[in-house]
Amino acid sequence: MERINVTKSSMPTKQEYFEEISDLWETHWITNMGVKHKKFQAELLDFLNTDNIELVVNGHMALEMALQAFRFPQGSEVITTPFTFASTTHSIIRNGLTPVFCDINETDYVINPALIEDLITDKTVAILPVHVYGNICDIEEIERIAIKHNLIVIYDAAHTFAETYKGVSTANFGDVSCFSFHATKVFNSIEGGAACYRSQEIGSHIYDLKNFGIHGENNVTGIGANAKMNEFCAAMGICNLRHVEEEINKRKGVYNRYIENLKEVKGLKLHQIQKDVKPNYAYFPVLVEEKEFGATRDDVYNTLIADNIYSRKYFYPLTSEFSCYKGRFDSSKTPIAKYISERIITLPMYADLSMADIDRISKIIKSLKI
Ligand SMILES: *Cc1c(COP(=O)(O)O)cnc(C)c1O
Repeated sequence: MERINVTKSSMPTKQEYFEEISDLWETHWITNMGVKHKKFQAELLDFLNTDNIELVVNGHMALEMALQAFRFPQGSEVITTPFTFASTTHSIIRNGLTPVFCDINETDYVINPALIEDLITDKTVAILPVHVYGNICDIEEIERIAIKHNLIVIYDAAHTFAETYKGVSTANFGDVSCFSFHATKVFNSIEGGAACYRSQEIGSHIYDLKNFGIHGENNVTGIGANAKMNEFCAAMGICNLRHVEEEINKRKGVYNRYIENLKEVKGLKLHQIQKDVKPNYAYFPVLVEEKEFGATRDDVYNTLIADNIYSRKYFYPLTSEFSCYKGRFDSSKTPIAKYISERIITLPMYADLSMADIDRISKIIKSLKI
């Protein structure tokens, strides 16, 4: 059987992409905020229904520079969750800040806002919550806490492209919302990302950070790095954006088929769409409760591999358990995150995954049920 991966990158037809990039051979302007960058930026502002966006080289740099833009004192504390991709925690540490890990909800795997206030100290400067699998954090409660304690909120919105909550785009939450347009995401520009921000001052710091602080030929006003998106990536983004709604619609078909196939299986907890959210069907996580199901998450993972099907233990391990952070954090302080991380698996999910393949994957999983 042909190998099935957990995801498959969306791509336009060759012809559509070649058409989009062909004028680059006339100008030879292939990076540094050229025409594709400008066009992609304008289209994203419109698509995401937001006012301020800075395109960057990837989602990680959006997070890292968003944090850096606020110029927090070294050693300041940032409240976040360990049930996330490496990038979120690394972005805090790489800024000389200290992550303080808050536990997650058992139901939707995002930060449990009821636990945040107990973690606030006089060193706390920000909250960095993650919208996991397209599940949106309790933005109202987080905003209330942030205002009360004068904290900045930066959302890791890597999983929520094209989503809305109560009709509002996820680009518009917090002080900054950071997206990833990595090849493995619902929407990609090969590599790429964006920071959507509220204040013009922070936006201009992010711009400085992404382009060496250069303003005009003879004027360098900031000590920035280089995190610009190039023209070929922007062109890919422009093409993929034309099809993203259609792709999400196909993902919905995949989602519904998995639900139909697996909903009756005791011991498997399936992904549920949250109330008031327009979903993007980015992932299909399944929680394997081994006592009820009769097999563990790792059994499911390994049995699928034996059939050349590659699911993902996502997110496992917790970032607080990474070997690079050995001895620094105590994952027993976030017991729900630990429990979920040891039992969660994300099944293959992409727009053109066939119904036959979904049925085959479901059947293999069901065969493990005792
Ligand atoms: C993908 C991802 C990132 C990083 O984005 P890149 O574009 O790969 O740098 C950050 N956070 C989460 C939750 C992600 O899934």
